[in-house]
Amino acid sequence: MTLTMQAAVVEQFGQALVLKELAIPEPGPGQILVKTEVCGVCHTDLHAAGGDWPLKPPLPFIPGHEGIGIVVALGAGVTAVKEGDRVGVPWLYSACGHCEYCLAAHEPVCPDAQFGGYTKNGGFAEYIIADPNYVAHIPAGLAAREAAPLICAGVTSYKGIKETQAKPGDWIVISGIGGLGHLAVQYAKAMGLHVCAVDIDDSKLAHAQRLGAEAIVNAKTADAIEMVREVTGGGAHGVLITAPSLAAFKQGVGMTRKFGTCVLVGLPPGEFPTPLFDVVANCITIRGSFVGNRRDMAEALAFAVDGKVKADIELQPLSAINKVFERLKHGEVPSRVVINFLPD
Ligand code: NAD
Ligand code: ZN
Ligand code: ZN
Repeated sequence: MTLTMQAAVVEQFGQALVLKELAIPEPGPGQILVKTEVCGVCHTDLHAAGGDWPLKPPLPFIPGHEGIGIVVALGAGVTAVKEGDRVGVPWLYSACGHCEYCLAAHEPVCPDAQFGGYTKNGGFAEYIIADPNYVAHIPAGLAAREAAPLICAGVTSYKGIKETQAKPGDWIVISGIGGLGHLAVQYAKAMGLHVCAVDIDDSKLAHAQRLGAEAIVNAKTADAIEMVREVTGGGAHGVLITAPSLAAFKQGVGMTRKFGTCVLVGLPPGEFPTPLFDVVANCITIRGSFVGNRRDMAEALAFAVDGKVKADIELQPLSAINKVFERLKHGEVPSRVVINFLPD
């Protein structure tokens, strides 16, 4: 084992990541060391590096929360995984395990939760220290590169769809057909829902159609809400907003059917105006959803093993990370970029 590793580090918010040679960390008691094979690039990594949110990560830090790799060393007392296992180091890096939220399996909102690539160093590095109790177990039959987008974009989309409480045969709007959205379309189809895809980019909408969306609406069209209401017969039973754009949130509430649920997962900084009368008089639920728990993770991965969901990926080396960030910022990534640490 070499003693140093390549890593992409955020040293200052809003500035380019710095490629560095760092010492390979050693797993302490209860920790494991994972040798990274691949790591997906999520729009959240942009928010993290930009210092966009009220709760900021401590500087410097290594982003990346879609890292997949092989367990290569165990700290004292670790029994949950063994050397050679393929695991994912997700956004939900760890939680306390005994607060009221953890007991209810709402561990992503545990007050002591740690977040991969945010409050803990993440997967834009050749090695990652992880908590063996919270890693994703990558099923045999799923390649590392195919698993990477699923451990954030996949589980978040899947959980968000469940949170809409839409039932088979119902309509769902997926707003934002990027990394999360292109998977959300597939999960929703597999869950028996009719999908109406919404984006501002016609090529993303064409992609959604290829993935099974029955209707597509360009959010820039003046009567986008009316168009959705027409195809869905009065609004969608469920609406999932993945778009990192405040405009999409107000629009999404308008696309929700009476007694329907609009689930917010996109995280652009700021606030959006809520049409109070419409929400009250139409009995609409607006609900936040934050990744998923470990059970949701296992379920989200199982859809891919069954061939029902497949991430569209573009491989790039770690050295391209700043170019990838620029493209992601400008909506120029077709679906998901995955950083590849393996030799070709
Ligand atoms: P992405 O950049 O891959 O995709 C975003 C998509 O939204 C693009 O296709 C873009 O064209 C589209 N879009 C932009 N403006 C739009 C608008 N006004 N209406 C409709 N579509 C629009 O991003 P991603 O990796 O899919 O992440 C999306 C957001 O979800 C980010 O804000 C990210 O931080 C957040 N996120 C939240 C969670 C969670 O747990 N809640 C988890 C992961 C990501
Ligand atoms: Zn993410
Ligand atoms: Zn807890």
